[in-house]
Amino acid sequence: MRVGCPKEIKNNENRVGLTPGGARSLVAAGHEVLVESGAGERSGFTDAEYEAVGARIAPVARQVFEQAELIVKVKEPQPPELAALRPGQILFTYLHLAPDPLQTKALLEHEVTAIAYETIRDASGRLPLLTPMSEVAGRMAAHVGAFYLQQPNGGRGMLLGGVPGVPPAHVVVLGGGVVGLNAIKVAAGMGARVTVLDKSLPTLRYLDDIFGNRIETLWSNEAHVEQALVQADLVIGAVLIPGAAAPRLVQRRMLKDMKPGCVIVDVAVDQGGCVETTRPTTHADPVYFVDGVLHYAVANMPGALPRTSTLALTNATLPYAMQLAGRGVKDALLADPGFLAGLNTYRGKLTCAPAAESLGIPYT
Ligand code: NAD
Repeated sequence: MRVGCPKEIKNNENRVGLTPGGARSLVAAGHEVLVESGAGERSGFTDAEYEAVGARIAPVARQVFEQAELIVKVKEPQPPELAALRPGQILFTYLHLAPDPLQTKALLEHEVTAIAYETIRDASGRLPLLTPMSEVAGRMAAHVGAFYLQQPNGGRGMLLGGVPGVPPAHVVVLGGGVVGLNAIKVAAGMGARVTVLDKSLPTLRYLDDIFGNRIETLWSNEAHVEQALVQADLVIGAVLIPGAAAPRLVQRRMLKDMKPGCVIVDVAVDQGGCVETTRPTTHADPVYFVDGVLHYAVANMPGALPRTSTLALTNATLPYAMQLAGRGVKDALLADPGFLAGLNTYRGKLTCAPAAESLGIPYT
């Protein structure tokens, strides 16, 4: 199969869908690999490294979109990329359709076979292609929160871990899945007081087992969220209902009871955000205030750490890309129900039930 990898064009998206190592595996399996010139540059991979393993370099994205049967990317296609997609072309990337009616409409109109990294499941029901980026974003959320808590950056002027004689900052983590766990690791490691809320008791039991009395766990309901927000210096939004719009745990009325200069890092922004006042921001302009509370809501946080993130992402995506290229989309998806769960659009039909429900579009 001819596999194409264009350069990412989303704001400050510095990752790339294929590493030279990944291209090498595809070429060794008999596939043709076409990489847009400069695609790997911001992740530290030169065109020469791709060429050295047998990939071809395309001078412009248009050639990649025109020639490739399978497009391997990182972020959802941006308007010029959507316009270039062809019927039957396989798009393998993060999509996040639930909060994005325009992208959904374009993929359906262009009859793209779109497979979303974030809805593929493994044998235990987990989300193996979301996990590596959630690990990066979760760890980064604690760093970002610590940075914005500094007063010149807009925050309350608190050191996450405090100092002897002065209490640490209180970090409230909403959702204790992969993002939440990784945020806790770093925040607790930096000495913060951490409270995590989740609606899943098994998840809270697991976190309690691994962190012991270094953190507090709280079952998530409206009253407990309100209670935690009043005490928080930093809130990290990390909830997910796979494929669906994020539940709005923090409502605007709750902000007025929070401490001025409190920081919210809403990692769940890519699914619409778990805070009512969240709106997507970019690395170029990442924060804004609502009612005295600083909001950070960058939808592609790992894009700021492209070297780590590209390597972590492609470790997880390559085996699936190899299946698509080797067996063809139909056989690859039908052989693995978890892989099939990644199919979001096919022949002009929306095939992801939670996205269809969030968008109010019929589901096939
Ligand atoms: P996950 O499935 O591992 O964890 C989500 C957790 O949310 C689960 O433990 C679930 O029980 C919990 N949850 C669901 N509803 C809840 C509720 N009402 N109250 C409390 N907890 C609730 O998901 P994840 O991998 O940690 O991802 C979390 C979010 O972060 C997703 O939206 C993901 O797309 C996003 N994400 C964003 C970026 C970014 O750059 N902004 C990067 C990676 C991941």
